[in-house]
Amino acid sequence: MERSHVRYMLVGGGIASSGCAEAIRELDKSEPIMLVAQEISRPYDRAPLSKSYLRRETAKRELVAKQVDWYAANNIDLRTGRRVTQIDAGRSAVFLDNGDEVFYDTLLLAIGTLPKPIGLDGGLLPNTFYLKTIADADRLHHAIEISRSVGHNRACVVGAGLLGVEVAASLAMVGMQIDLIQAHATPWPKIAGELTGGFLSRRIRSTGARIHQGVRAIRLEGDGRVQRVVLSDGTTIPADFVVAAVGSVINRQLLSNTQIAAESAIMVDQRGQTNVPNIYAAGDCSAIFDPIFGKHRASTHWDHARQTGRICGINMAGGEARYDSVTHFTTELADLVVHVWGDGRFVHHRLMRGNALNDDGNFAEVGVSADGRIAQVIAIGRGHEHFRYRDLVRNRFDTTGLEEQCKDPARPIPE
Ligand SMILES: Cc1cc2nc3c(=O)[nH]c(=O)nc-3n(C[C@H](O)[C@H](O)[C@H](O)COP(=O)(O)OP(=O)(O)OC[C@H]3O[C@@H](n4cnc5c(N)ncnc54)[C@H](O)[C@@H]3O)c2cc1C
Repeated sequence: MERSHVRYMLVGGGIASSGCAEAIRELDKSEPIMLVAQEISRPYDRAPLSKSYLRRETAKRELVAKQVDWYAANNIDLRTGRRVTQIDAGRSAVFLDNGDEVFYDTLLLAIGTLPKPIGLDGGLLPNTFYLKTIADADRLHHAIEISRSVGHNRACVVGAGLLGVEVAASLAMVGMQIDLIQAHATPWPKIAGELTGGFLSRRIRSTGARIHQGVRAIRLEGDGRVQRVVLSDGTTIPADFVVAAVGSVINRQLLSNTQIAAESAIMVDQRGQTNVPNIYAAGDCSAIFDPIFGKHRASTHWDHARQTGRICGINMAGGEARYDSVTHFTTELADLVVHVWGDGRFVHHRLMRGNALNDDGNFAEVGVSADGRIAQVIAIGRGHEHFRYRDLVRNRFDTTGLEEQCKDPARPIPE
């Protein structure tokens, strides 16, 4: 057991932590940084795990955010395979799982989220999988091989949010027979409206996956492992394994015995600072104050995690940075890239710019709040208008009286 002191302690091995380290080093070239990451891998990009990595088109080495010598060259003490088990904010110290105690001047929490458990009878059977880490993706590779070896080639994905849709499409693209269980009428219920959802459903089906709409998985059954999924309409689906993609939750264990304020995520101000002095939080585990919507918002996307990590790094190193960006993410569905700006939780009704009933993928769904102001834009194709979509959300553009112009793809977006 050792005791040491660092100027900067970063907890978590994802893009928020590595973005923070990078930003610190732009302002402070020398003071020690320790980055503690419980996974064996150094910080890496998770996005390909449900896409090209799952389809074996991307190698593991291509996922890492920074090459190993970057950490040493930047005087960053990278501790992979190590976990922070406790924060003692009163003494400005954390404990590691080997008993080491490390005192800090400033602390970043970038601990991500955990997959939400499926919570069904049979949900603990061993071939029920979640997808968060490289190890999880490798377990899925193994499950695919076993399913192939017995000649079944079949699996079931529960949940049709961003992750479930990506996984279902990727598994179908590698030749698996996939049943996607979708509780709502269309996929992405928290993000997209009915017309965009209909377009996405057609794209998912074009990969070969079957969609079960408006039904819930109620039970996983089998003899020592999952063999069937029972649905709320009484249908039974044979499956060699199940991927549960039903949401994510923060791990509160590290927050216990601290005064750090958290609801469904750790609450931080525009500078990424928690309510406890010298403790910051970034990425998926945090909800940052967003001046565009006048609220704390959690966003579990790559760009946001990197950006909020960088904001924390700048402030931790004595600079000044505030969050004032439009949340943006991309997702892939087979050969289609979808861009989303803003927040679907504030959408009351939707204006369709272009025709979502065509399968050519060239339209935008403009999500409008009850007061007429734009809250979210989903763009499928239409790359030439992307910066305008971002600005419409940034300015919370008021569409009142301009709805027809917004809807007409042949006319410019209103200024
Ligand atoms: C399969 C998949 C596909 C995705 N695809 C997309 C996409 O297409 N587009 C997009 O925008 N976003 C995507 N995302 C989301 C994106 O990857 C996340 O928003 C991003 O990784 C969040 O980064 P983070 O650093 O906040 O957290 P994470 O990447 O979750 O990293 C947190 C790390 O901290 C570690 N940790 C937790 N507690 C401790 C502790 N006590 N001590 C030490 N380490 C700890 C965790 O084990 C984890 O390794 C995807 C996510 C997944 C899982």
